[in-house]
Amino acid sequence: MTAKEIRQAFLDFFAAKGHAIVPSAPIVVKNDPTLMFTNAGMNQFKEIFLGEAPAKNARVADTQRCLRVSGKHNDLEEVGIDTYHHTMFEMLGNWSFGDYFKTEAIAWSWELLTEVYKLPKDRLYVTYFEGDAKEGLEKDIETLNLWKQFVDDSHILPGNKKDNFWEMGETGPCGPCSEIHFDSRPDNERAEVNGATLVNGDHDQVIEIWNNVFMQFNRVKDGSLHSLPAKHVDTGMGFERLVRVLQGKSSNYDSDVFQGLIQFISDKSGKTYNSAAKPDDADWNAAVAMRVLADHVRAISFTIADGQLPSNNKAGYVIRRILRRAVRYQYQYLGFKEPFLNLLVPILADQFKGVFDELYSQKDFVQKVVLEEETAFLRTLEKGIQVFDQFTGDITGEQAFVLSDTFGFPIDLTELMAREKGLSVDLAGYETALAEQKARSRAATAIDTGDWVVLQNDDSVEFTGYDETETVAHITKYRKVNAKGKEQYQIVLDKTPFYAESGGQVGDTGELVFPDGEVIHVTDTKKENALIVHFTDKLPANPTEALTAIVDQSRRNSICSNHSATHLLHAAMKQVLGTHVNQKGSLVNDDYLRFDFSHFAKVTDEELAQIEVIVNQKIRENISLKEERNVAYQVAITSGVTALFGEKYGEYVRVITFDDEFSKELCGGTHVQATGQIGYFKIVAESAVAAGVRRIEAITGVGAENFINGQNLIIKKVKEALKNPKDVVKSIEDLLEENARLRKEIDKAILEKSAGLKDELAAKAEAIGGINFIAQKVDLPNADAVKNLAYQLKDIVPNLFLVLATEADGKPGLTVMIAENLVKDKNLNAGTIVRELAKEIQGGGGGQPFYATAGGKDASGLDRALEKARAYTA
Ligand code: ATP
Ligand code: MG
Repeated sequence: MTAKEIRQAFLDFFAAKGHAIVPSAPIVVKNDPTLMFTNAGMNQFKEIFLGEAPAKNARVADTQRCLRVSGKHNDLEEVGIDTYHHTMFEMLGNWSFGDYFKTEAIAWSWELLTEVYKLPKDRLYVTYFEGDAKEGLEKDIETLNLWKQFVDDSHILPGNKKDNFWEMGETGPCGPCSEIHFDSRPDNERAEVNGATLVNGDHDQVIEIWNNVFMQFNRVKDGSLHSLPAKHVDTGMGFERLVRVLQGKSSNYDSDVFQGLIQFISDKSGKTYNSAAKPDDADWNAAVAMRVLADHVRAISFTIADGQLPSNNKAGYVIRRILRRAVRYQYQYLGFKEPFLNLLVPILADQFKGVFDELYSQKDFVQKVVLEEETAFLRTLEKGIQVFDQFTGDITGEQAFVLSDTFGFPIDLTELMAREKGLSVDLAGYETALAEQKARSRAATAIDTGDWVVLQNDDSVEFTGYDETETVAHITKYRKVNAKGKEQYQIVLDKTPFYAESGGQVGDTGELVFPDGEVIHVTDTKKENALIVHFTDKLPANPTEALTAIVDQSRRNSICSNHSATHLLHAAMKQVLGTHVNQKGSLVNDDYLRFDFSHFAKVTDEELAQIEVIVNQKIRENISLKEERNVAYQVAITSGVTALFGEKYGEYVRVITFDDEFSKELCGGTHVQATGQIGYFKIVAESAVAAGVRRIEAITGVGAENFINGQNLIIKKVKEALKNPKDVVKSIEDLLEENARLRKEIDKAILEKSAGLKDELAAKAEAIGGINFIAQKVDLPNADAVKNLAYQLKDIVPNLFLVLATEADGKPGLTVMIAENLVKDKNLNAGTIVRELAKEIQGGGGGQPFYATAGGKDASGLDRALEKARAYTA
């Protein structure tokens, strides 16, 4: 079976068992403060497990693209070294939301593996949770007995809490799990060592392929467990591992999921891929490097396609680090000194066409971003190598840390380079520096979140903010949060007009007003999974009372203007620049709007002007908002709406239209009732954000009016300063021209003056014991002219010891010039001398032994300084 067929067989199998097949969620997570990337199939269903939203289907299956490079699951350091952990992988999963439980889940997993995929039963091992007395957790006898129906006792193994008890986080849903492992060792090895002893023992031929989690508890902050009202099944099977065992390979990289990439890398590097290489073999490093590239390009490409660009913080930085790891390997072990990784993007895109089309439809863009990042990092690497070369002696921990932190050198690269120079690296010191940095960043982001205090059980929040900005509501739950030492409260209401930050639009602010007159200020509103969370500084005295939730209306109006203008802008850009323009990020707040989009060239002034004209035209047409709330996703897409990559859309979507022929977007944000409300639209900046991504910033309404008024005021002041000429521009041009001409004349005059001074001073030289001493006050307007004079004198007066005193704009200055032979023979040093002389003018300075300058505060000391200089001639 090919990988494609294997994936399809999984989905078909569960579809036949009544499961709805759903699309993979994007790899980049939004609306979950605890998670940056999707790291398991269940992430997109978290709100169902938490009871925050009802399940639309009780049985669901899919293949989810996952990334395990940060947080609780971080496999990055294993990747490439071993043959079965990836950064990005597909997790095949089936779910039951309060529907079937252990009986069906276990029977079906066995049926699929042994009857559909026909895996040999004697190579399969299953596990069950053995219980944990300390935690008061019971042994999962139910699972044990269910397995006994299908599996021989010798292949059913108990597992501890670490491997066989799954928890969403420190708090939340949890329960026992049951894993399925596969032993792919050759028969002779299997005869010698019992596979059961190798399960969960990090053996690369006895690997876990599937995990079935049975969620039956909820853990609260004090650590205690409560039984969940509805029990769920959550399973995850590593697709690449499954393909490998089905294709009879001993490494994931030998399956058809990776071979296309590996072959290409091998061809271009001119090195053969040796799948069986061991760490001591000569071709080990190259084999690891090829695996790293074939793996990392997947993580990088899918994440960029899902809208996350490499950057210097958070999710973007994680991607940048993965990319750098890949570049480092190709540079160090495959001999690619020029960008290479990006060439893998089109191969990958073709491979996933029809599976995850997000990549295929953006492959040029993704490739370009990768190329640009590679190029930039190669430059950094080279700089780092230069820095490394300047280190003398063994490499200290601090130096190794700087190399890794600033130049992206992993510690083993530093070690390798040190070894080549016969130096050692202080590894312990490096680890300490690293640990210190980690502790610093942890302290900076530590957030202590309390348990929810539940006042009313309510499994979904109603958002009323599309229709009104004032709603009578009740608090359903609240909690206390301690972030960076600041106490805050988070409040959830049963209904709310407050828009929670999402889709680039900021959260609403406003007030919660209580019957007794108490007013609680809402400082921000954010989403957490399906919840709308209001941030406040205090709790009301009577939290169970009905309250009126009131959004700050004028702020909201400005936000609506900017959001609707963003849609008009997007549509206008597609007209002016082309349909390749895709949104790559957006920010809409009450001050302005920021729109990032894919486009390979700078947007010219003419294009910007054209875009502005179109948007303002649409504003004046005063087009009414058409808002459709429950449109089936497929219907919307077929009607030609603009959907965004990396956005998770439900089955039903909201469509915002301003003129059917002009702008139609899937959007959850708030908008003006008619475009005329926007008033006026003005672009204020256009810039580059990253390779292939440009940014436009614009303002609307009163903001735009103030901006234009500000500009007009400047012009008015300029005109006044120029005495109100008829043509301001011409008048400024004339002024500049005149200025340039005067500048030239002055320069010439100074030059003439210093030439005259040169001869005059040379004539004044006093011969004192082999030294030609000149100490004079000169009248020259700037430092350049003085320097010029000093150098000219040096050319014509041998054995020169020159001291010049100047005064420009009331500030005294000293210049010392000493002939090189005097510096050597008489041990005279202009730097030392000028510092000593400068004391007379209350100043300081320095320079080289033959030329130095000083400035000071007290011009009356210049004569004393000149006199003092004479002492050095002795
Ligand atoms: P392992 O112990 O091998 O790291 P895990 O216990 O972390 O696996 P789960 O969190 O249970 O794995 O994930 C479910 C399945 O996803 C696993 O059975 C495995 O097949 C697959 N899987 C987990 N991590 C990875 C990874 N980094 N790369 C590829 N597949 C993975
Ligand atoms: Mg793991």
